[in-house]
Amino acid sequence: MPDVEYMLFCCRDQEHKCGFRVQAKTKEEAMEHARAHMASEHGMKEISEETERSIKEKIKPVKVEE
Ligand SMILES: [Zn+2]
Repeated sequence: MPDVEYMLFCCRDQEHKCGFRVQAKTKEEAMEHARAHMASEHGMKEISEETERSIKEKIKPVKVEE
């Protein structure tokens, strides 16, 4: 079985004490999920460029066996 690469975002890396993680096929998709999570769970209706950049830096590729 070939390994599939996913983009993984762990909120723990961005916020303290939050167990949210999201896996997506692309960085953009992971970013979308991260944004939605920030809005609903962390009350961040507006995400600043700085936060966005910081989230993007924390999205990393992981290999998953399918
Ligand atoms: Zn979170």
